[in-house]
Amino acid sequence: MEPFVHETRAARVVFGPGSRRLLPRELEQLGIRRALVLTTPEQAALGEQVAALLGDRSVGVYSKAVMHVPAEVARAAMATVAQLGVDGCIAVGGGSTVGLAKAIALESALPIVALPTTYAGSEMTPLYGITEAAHKKTGRDWRVAPRAVVYDPELTLTLPPGLTMTSGMNAMAHAAEALYAPDGNPVFSLMAEEGIRALATVLPRLRDAPQDLQARGEALYGAWLCGTVLGNLQMGVHHKLCHTLGGSFNLPHAEVHTVMLPYALAYNAALVPHAMARIARALGREAAPAGMRQLGEGLGVPRSLREIGMPEEGLDRAADLVVAGAYPNPRPIERAAIRALLQRAYHGATPG
Ligand code: NAD
Repeated sequence: MEPFVHETRAARVVFGPGSRRLLPRELEQLGIRRALVLTTPEQAALGEQVAALLGDRSVGVYSKAVMHVPAEVARAAMATVAQLGVDGCIAVGGGSTVGLAKAIALESALPIVALPTTYAGSEMTPLYGITEAAHKKTGRDWRVAPRAVVYDPELTLTLPPGLTMTSGMNAMAHAAEALYAPDGNPVFSLMAEEGIRALATVLPRLRDAPQDLQARGEALYGAWLCGTVLGNLQMGVHHKLCHTLGGSFNLPHAEVHTVMLPYALAYNAALVPHAMARIARALGREAAPAGMRQLGEGLGVPRSLREIGMPEEGLDRAADLVVAGAYPNPRPIERAAIRALLQRAYHGATPG
């Protein structure tokens, strides 16, 4: 066995259908008396329901979270936080809403309680991003990680079918790269493999029965595991590709992850056969890149960058941006190989 370091961070997780009703207890434990509930505009009504559960511990709902946390949105939210004397944020939503809460925490050190409604996993990570002048600045700081996470599968019943599938694939991407992360260890590898297994098993069920609460719970369980490894380990070429394509070409986050994952796995496959074997085992298929592609085909998710709005003339610039920043990855990130990968992904060609 290889030498390793395993460090765990305190993150309280409360899991189960209806668990949002335990929020007052969670706020009590954190000493939050003036909570601001954060949502996107689309989830404002859900925010009001959560605020009602909090009674006089809620000072209101702020429903202006949007993708990629624009700096002006974060500043406006901070002004509201100061004006209302807020002492904690309740993020009800996906990665965009949790992202806004993190931007507030970065400035104010206020505690966050997260109620995730997608499978993106941001609630389990110390990673934040703020977009200023079309550039997304990202960082890592455990002060922005939510202090408590309440996983209530009932909140995911409304997740649209397409986003259910792509968000689940987004989660699996974290776990896949965790299995070859340079700082990985046997415990996080167990979580990663189990996260892939849970999602690969349950997404086909959810495709056929999106209202199956039991299945929704299993998907959220998988998302929790995948988010945990994302938060603790260094990600590789796949996350670099998706960060570049999402941030610089404004492609939808979960869909970019979905399209790129088989290609990123094919890029690394020859150098990390052990990780590939574990991914394949978790998928119940013969090979990791092809297996991930087959899973996606069965789920009806997008297969090409072209389908999700990538301009072909942007592929050269994307390749330049991907090779520009240092990212740990089993295989060196070489421009010609990355450009070829992007071309294949653009057309949805067979990975590898
Ligand atoms: P999202 O939060 O942007 O949500 C997408 C849309 O779906 C929104 O309109 C939202 O209101 C809606 N929605 C979410 N849950 C719903 C539900 N249950 N029912 C109905 N509608 C629902 O999507 P996302 O994929 O969760 O997050 C993407 C963002 O999160 C990106 O900006 C990405 O960079 C960031 N992210 C950050 C981390 C991290 O660790 N910092 C991890 C993953 C993603």
